[in-house]
Amino acid sequence: MSQLLSVAEARLRLLNAFAPIESEQVPLAHASGRVLAEEVVSKVDLPLFNNSSMDGFAVRAGDLDGTGLHHPIELSVIADIPAGKMPSFRLEYREAARIMTGAPLPEGADAVVPVEDTDQYRSEKPIKSSFSDRVRVYRQVNAGDYVRLKGQDVRSGDVVLQAHRWLRPQDVGLLAMLGDMQVSVFRRPRVGMLSTGDELLPVERPLQPGKIHDSNAYTLANQVTRDGGEAIYLGIAPDNEESVTKVLEQAIASRVDLIISSAGVSVGAFDFVRTVVEKHGEIDFWRVNMRPGKPLAFGHYRHVPFIGLPGNPVSAFVGYEVFVRPALLLLGGLKGTSRFQIRVKILEEIESDGRESYLRAVIKHQEGDWIARLTGHQGSGNLLSLVQANALLIIPSGVKSLPSGAIVDAWLLDQFGSSG
Ligand code: AMP
Ligand code: MG
Repeated sequence: MSQLLSVAEARLRLLNAFAPIESEQVPLAHASGRVLAEEVVSKVDLPLFNNSSMDGFAVRAGDLDGTGLHHPIELSVIADIPAGKMPSFRLEYREAARIMTGAPLPEGADAVVPVEDTDQYRSEKPIKSSFSDRVRVYRQVNAGDYVRLKGQDVRSGDVVLQAHRWLRPQDVGLLAMLGDMQVSVFRRPRVGMLSTGDELLPVERPLQPGKIHDSNAYTLANQVTRDGGEAIYLGIAPDNEESVTKVLEQAIASRVDLIISSAGVSVGAFDFVRTVVEKHGEIDFWRVNMRPGKPLAFGHYRHVPFIGLPGNPVSAFVGYEVFVRPALLLLGGLKGTSRFQIRVKILEEIESDGRESYLRAVIKHQEGDWIARLTGHQGSGNLLSLVQANALLIIPSGVKSLPSGAIVDAWLLDQFGSSG
């Protein structure tokens, strides 16, 4: 019998077998959610040119020395600078140019007076399309006021994005600002998935006595896609060596980067997956001291990493979160794969059995604390209690009971607040 490993040890051994796969170029429009393969170096300065941060008047700050609400200074307005137009003149003594937000500053100007601080301000209609050739200014400005200087945010040659990080919408926006049309990202890892068990039918087939639908395929495929992988569903293998071998061979033919299976790795009389993997590869471990999901196998089938998840729907889900997700993120090029974790206060007594336990709970923020309540019975076949949960509480190994009020770690399952 293989050793019973702690979750941390099992994860360490498993993650050792994974490294980022190769990269590819994608157009900017498809970059969000991908992982950067190379650092991004800016070829431009941002802002690209000195420009105004307000609608107002480009001025020479020195011309307005001594201006105030009761001592306005009048300037002559020599031009209008809309956004998108590069001015070709130079401001001289006591000259101003009407300027819009984002428009380039003319030469000679070193500050902008917001229109609100001039006699040109109309609260009902802030700026007229025609402009008068004089402007009275009611306040003093310093050189640099309301000016966004070329290169103040980014300098040409600066590294603006590090490799091995998720591209979020704002990151892609920055790439567009730099004028990059393509970006180098890691290829999406291909994950071959099989379900095993004589009792399983695909969802599109009507149920028969004693049979159930293959729900794990759906849960797991969606977890894989959520985490940036490409889910390749290989089908259901009945409980015999031949069928399991056939589907695993299909995984190899599909050139997957990782194989995951559900069910068939425990000590049941019909658990063939482990046997078949051992015949054509090796199993590193197949028992982890966790709940749910103790029968969890890791090895290689013909040199392709293989993770055998338990069959029970909640165990398969949790096994995925604990082991497959970090492996998949590593394959997909992410560096830090640790999960966002918060400390929560449990509002009920919790019994555990000494294994590291992942319990379904609803957590919410209340009077400065994160509080947690379990979502009903924690049987590993009860998928509904996972559906009702927005977090998994982690009860450390060795702990058999915790009083109400105890503080535990929790993993958030949702991106958007509470679903409970
Ligand atoms: P096993 O690991 O084969 O002992 O299966 C444990 C439990 O999980 C049994 O109740 C199975 O019927 C159930 N199960 C196995 N595979 C799936 C699946 N793909 N979808 C839903 N339930 C499953
Ligand atoms: Mg079975």
